[in-house]
Amino acid sequence: MANELAQVGQFCPNEQCELYGEIEAAQIIRFGKTKNGAQRYRCKSCGQTFTETFGTVFYRRQASRETILETLALLAEGVRISSIARAKGIKEDTILDWLRAAARQAAEVEEALLKDYRISQAQIDGLWTSVGHKGHKGGRRKR
Ligand SMILES: [Zn+2]
Repeated sequence: MANELAQVGQFCPNEQCELYGEIEAAQIIRFGKTKNGAQRYRCKSCGQTFTETFGTVFYRRQASRETILETLALLAEGVRISSIARAKGIKEDTILDWLRAAARQAAEVEEALLKDYRISQAQIDGLWTSVGHKGHKGGRRKR
């Protein structure tokens, strides 16, 4: 997938678009911000709008990036899902959904957890193990 290392804003994520995934040819312009402050983009070819978190764990989820990362950080620190669910008023199913989505975007999520939440690599590895994610498939990190 050519998209994996591309930055959002460099390619069109619309599979119907003739410029889908074509980083060189894409005509993506900045298109204001969402009410959460995320950069929004628009493809001049197909008119599709999307945000900087497109294709990530955060895309189209009800919770903010911070809430999701905070929750993942707590999980990585060994806090039980049931405790987090109770404390934050989030359904356990929702948290599991975030965790599974995060495992698919491991490299990106790890970067944020390591840098902003001071979670150790070992804790993060434990987090992925808990959802049966093997290593860093699709990620940028080499082991
Ligand atoms: Zn397009």
